[in-house]
Amino acid sequence: MPNMTTVKTTTQPSIQTEVDLSTYNTMALRSVCHTAYFLQNAADVQVALAMAEAQQLPVLVLSGGSNVILPDYLQAMVLLPRMRGIEVITEDAHHVDISVMAAENWHELVVSCVQKGWYGLENLALIPGMVGAAPVQNIGAYGRQIEDNLLSVTAYHIPSKQWQTLSRAQCEFGYRDSIFKQQTGQWLITQVNLRLHKDASITHAGYGDVKQYAETLAAAANREQINPGDVMAAIIAIRQSKLPDPKQLPNCGSFFKNPIISTAQFEKLQQQYPDVVGYVVSPTQTKIAAGWLIDNAGLKGQGIPPILTHDKQALVLTNHAPRLEIKHASQQDILATQSYIQQQVFSRYGITLQREPVWIASDGSVIEQ
Ligand SMILES: Cc1cc2nc3c(=O)[nH]c(=O)nc-3n(C[C@H](O)[C@H](O)[C@H](O)COP(=O)(O)OP(=O)(O)OC[C@H]3O[C@@H](n4cnc5c(N)ncnc54)[C@H](O)[C@@H]3O)c2cc1C
Repeated sequence: MPNMTTVKTTTQPSIQTEVDLSTYNTMALRSVCHTAYFLQNAADVQVALAMAEAQQLPVLVLSGGSNVILPDYLQAMVLLPRMRGIEVITEDAHHVDISVMAAENWHELVVSCVQKGWYGLENLALIPGMVGAAPVQNIGAYGRQIEDNLLSVTAYHIPSKQWQTLSRAQCEFGYRDSIFKQQTGQWLITQVNLRLHKDASITHAGYGDVKQYAETLAAAANREQINPGDVMAAIIAIRQSKLPDPKQLPNCGSFFKNPIISTAQFEKLQQQYPDVVGYVVSPTQTKIAAGWLIDNAGLKGQGIPPILTHDKQALVLTNHAPRLEIKHASQQDILATQSYIQQQVFSRYGITLQREPVWIASDGSVIEQ
């Protein structure tokens, strides 16, 4: 069992039944679960799983709920990690290796690392959710992914009932992908170990408008070189200007993946739409910006109420139920707008959009497209 010396306890009762998860998912969907088990420490993991097995309840791990679309009712035991703590494992003049418990808030971790002079995570600032969920889809933004700083992950392997520490290679990271996503429902991550750098010049700002913004911040502070703090501040400002805050307008970030199409198909599209946005990913393939496809089809701010694309970032589906004084939105409402957008985009460009968030069935399993 992993070392839990830094665990902070909460006053939340560990087990509750018939829990409304509306406030536990950033899309604010009403979803009631049979049982919710708040995991205060690693020992709770085995206790909760034994209880679920005895009650023949499937399990679902729910952390910050910022990448899930939940059903109306979950006939399952929902495991909510609440174990917290950050520990320095080793430190030298160049690096610091830290161990972070699953329920630490990701963005707060990024900010506190940069403030301490530990660099490498700054490009991933303002991504919602908890640390334990971050390796699941290998969170990424502005040219960096968590795998760039990840040493290992401690997780409970549910089928074999074994604790395991997986090296970065064993995590099988890919673009928004990992072994934890591939083998969904089989792992419960409790601890993530990261290596951070003390050399500020390792910072990566060479992506989009971040560099320009960071340079403006450095110049305003009479510095010639940008530092990781500038990069983080630039990214926070850029993200805040484009992405809706789930607390103000419920959403789960990018709803559609950027499709990868053949470069031949992309060039054909470019003849018709010269400003189409694409990035070459291989000699024959181009990744196309799903947000551009939706926006260019005139679908910004559109959809089937109460679920509409965001009026500043068409890639994000937003829940307007509270604003429209509709009691609550459901998975079916999301599906209606998802299908509408997919149909419109397909009929215009012949490209099928795929959703990014994890779609949960009523037994806690994941439903693919
Ligand atoms: C406004 C907004 C912006 C976003 N921007 C980005 C972005 O730039 N880049 C990006 O990559 N993502 C982004 N996301 C998506 C999301 O924030 C990330 O995927 C995040 O890591 C999800 O964390 P969570 O704690 O909310 O996980 P949850 O939504 O609770 O869970 C996500 C999945 O991980 C599983 N899971 C959760 N915790 C664990 C655990 N401890 N062990 C095993 N499995 C677990 C769940 O079962 C589920 O399948 C954004 C979301 C929002 C709302």
